[in-house]
Amino acid sequence: MICEFVWQDVVYRADLSHPVDLSIPLAADGQPNPSAWCVPPPSMTPVRGEGFVGSVIAGGSVNFRDIQFNPHGHGTHTECMGHITPVVHPVDPLFRNRPAFFPCAVITVQPQQLGGDWVVTPDALDAVAKLQWPPALVMRTLPNDPSKRTQDWSNTNPPYLTSDVTTQLANHGVQHLLIDLPSVDREVDGGRLEAHHAFWGVPDNPRPSCTITEMIYTPQNVSDGLWLLHLAVAPFVNDAAPSRPTLYPVSH
Ligand SMILES: [Zn+2]
Repeated sequence: MICEFVWQDVVYRADLSHPVDLSIPLAADGQPNPSAWCVPPPSMTPVRGEGFVGSVIAGGSVNFRDIQFNPHGHGTHTECMGHITPVVHPVDPLFRNRPAFFPCAVITVQPQQLGGDWVVTPDALDAVAKLQWPPALVMRTLPNDPSKRTQDWSNTNPPYLTSDVTTQLANHGVQHLLIDLPSVDREVDGGRLEAHHAFWGVPDNPRPSCTITEMIYTPQNVSDGLWLLHLAVAPFVNDAAPSRPTLYPVSH
């Protein structure tokens, strides 16, 4: 199915029959799963009660499992500024009866070595500046090894973004930032979360409708440039929720 959309007075065509799913599925039972922040693996446990077992293979009539997980620690999730504010603003209302398709730039960035860290610096955004600034940005960091889909990032000091980067994104009106790292900030930073604060303008110029999606995986065959993004977020009343960002190829 081809759909036309208009952005900045230009007509584009998106091919909805060729989705590229950027989400990493959240699995349990020892299946491969990414994680971060030292959280234990997710679990999916059949409910057991009086004469009831929520497992067909164990003799029950249905599979009926309790799930334990942490949206920030297990796989692809989308978070709003409620992540860093005293009030836990929920992410759900941002996508409830509101647009979820966004023109989206995909860029590939090489983190730079800074002391013992690897950081994404503002020059990484030069590639975006050649396009029009889009409402959504997917940042694919190098190396882009498929092991990102199953990586335990805990205590690895992953690459992160300087707050200059997220300040620029905010200044250019980027509403939705998607990255393949567990955080836009340094794993251990004394709780400052400067890149998060800069992106959401907390506390001085809050941007409550903006989101950060972490732990995506952008396949190698996705080219840099303009795509159409559909950002589907599970309806949790929480600062973050599992999500399924999907890219569609665009032409015009
Ligand atoms: Zn998070």
